[in-house]
Amino acid sequence: MTAYDYDLFVIGGGSGGVRSARLAASMGRRVAIAEEYRFGGTCVIRGCVPKKLFVYASQFHEHFEDAAGYGWTVGESRFDWPTLIAAKDKEIARLEGLYRRGLENAGAELLDTRAVLTGPHEIRLLKTEKTVTAETIIIATGGTANPHASLPGHELCITSNEAFHIEELPKSILIAGGGYIAVEFANIFHGLGVDTTLIYRGKEILSRFDIDMRQGLHKAMVDKGIRIVLTDVIEEVTKSPAGGLTARTKAGATIAADQVMLALGRDPNTVGLGLETAGVAVDHRGAVVVDAYSRTNVPHIFALGDVTDRVQLTPVAIHEAMCFIETVYKNNPTAPDHDLIATAVFSQPEIGTVGLSEEEASAKFDEIEVYRAEFRPMKATLSGRAEKMIMKLIVNAADRKVVGAHILGHDAGEMAQLLGVSLKAGVTKDDFDRTMAVHPTAAEELVTMYKPSYRVKGGERIA
Ligand code: FAD
Repeated sequence: MTAYDYDLFVIGGGSGGVRSARLAASMGRRVAIAEEYRFGGTCVIRGCVPKKLFVYASQFHEHFEDAAGYGWTVGESRFDWPTLIAAKDKEIARLEGLYRRGLENAGAELLDTRAVLTGPHEIRLLKTEKTVTAETIIIATGGTANPHASLPGHELCITSNEAFHIEELPKSILIAGGGYIAVEFANIFHGLGVDTTLIYRGKEILSRFDIDMRQGLHKAMVDKGIRIVLTDVIEEVTKSPAGGLTARTKAGATIAADQVMLALGRDPNTVGLGLETAGVAVDHRGAVVVDAYSRTNVPHIFALGDVTDRVQLTPVAIHEAMCFIETVYKNNPTAPDHDLIATAVFSQPEIGTVGLSEEEASAKFDEIEVYRAEFRPMKATLSGRAEKMIMKLIVNAADRKVVGAHILGHDAGEMAQLLGVSLKAGVTKDDFDRTMAVHPTAAEELVTMYKPSYRVKGGERIA
């Protein structure tokens, strides 16, 4: 028994915080976890989960259209936004309840309050004005949507937070940003019948993804009717006399829309957290600086998840939490492994990806082989939908290892999860070649691309 109120105090009840608190409590540690908004955090309450529900909602329009080619006559269809919001809210409340119960059952104390550090071992609970102490502290406060405060009229805009609660579905929306959140919401709103424009300062959307995925998705989105404006930014947003908003861009365009959504990145959530008081160092972006074991410069204070600005994804925050438990409570120092993280963009079509893009691989290795297939998926034949699937394997010519796998098309996220296992196991192209295909599937293309489409040597495409 220590002299502290708790063995472990976790600030933030999101993906990383909940997992670490629950596991530590289930091991008999005296654990408290503070959450200022809703347990479950960004992912459950206003991130991955409600977003994916919205993605499903936005796909039905195409399903109804596609059905005709298969002989179905679908009656008149109508979408009701309040019904979707109510159903989504009910599901999120259910999940929040599960998170709360999981913590309670493990024996953790749930504190519905903002918590700030007031000393190296001291935490102030703002709701009760009580101060408590803990031997070990985890900062798992996540990130916040960048409000772009320097943009005149930013207060008229929404971020992803509000997008989940808009009272009325807008007729038109302008989304600023080229990252996965911007792209996913552009597809969601378009699928729900909203006139959608995406504006991004870069030359192509999704800057860190493979170029074929970026260009392929761009084309698919434009073909659907989403407007994409590149190399331009919004400089001012004002209210239009006729109602709605008007955005003026740097290139001189004027874009009118009912809503303007800013999806311009996420900042580590450390403002006002008392980190200076506790002596915890942050970097230039305000992210908590940690070592390989998620330990801050104050040895008994750890930080994990988005607040550390390593890889901002839910499974990563959870993995870091589990590594914390191994390191601190199981005497088994375990550094989170951030290599080869499979991930998806839930655009329409989806992107699933793991490993290096062609550009990254060609910069890293002397010679790479690129296996690329572009084809019309079987389902699109009878539906008549003009859509293409792209699959790409990047292989290091020196040892035949598959160093990147990228898919654009239906269920790409599901496929990426399984490819993630293979690449993590160090699979070679020869392993792909001797794997029997599952027929008829789209994924079989991955094991039937026997000849490289081209090679890249010294950064130059050679054949
Ligand atoms: P969070 O889940 O953000 O939790 C932090 C919690 O701390 C919050 O609940 C916050 O209220 C609380 N908090 C903050 N400060 C305090 C304080 N001082 N006191 C008490 N509580 C505090 N990731 C994926 O892997 N796949 C996806 O498809 C995906 N989609 C996303 C879509 C959107 C729109 C967004 C915004 C994010 C998405 N993410 C996705 C990212 C994912 O949500 C985050 O990576 C993940 O939630 C990070 O977990 P975390 O524990 O670090 O922080």
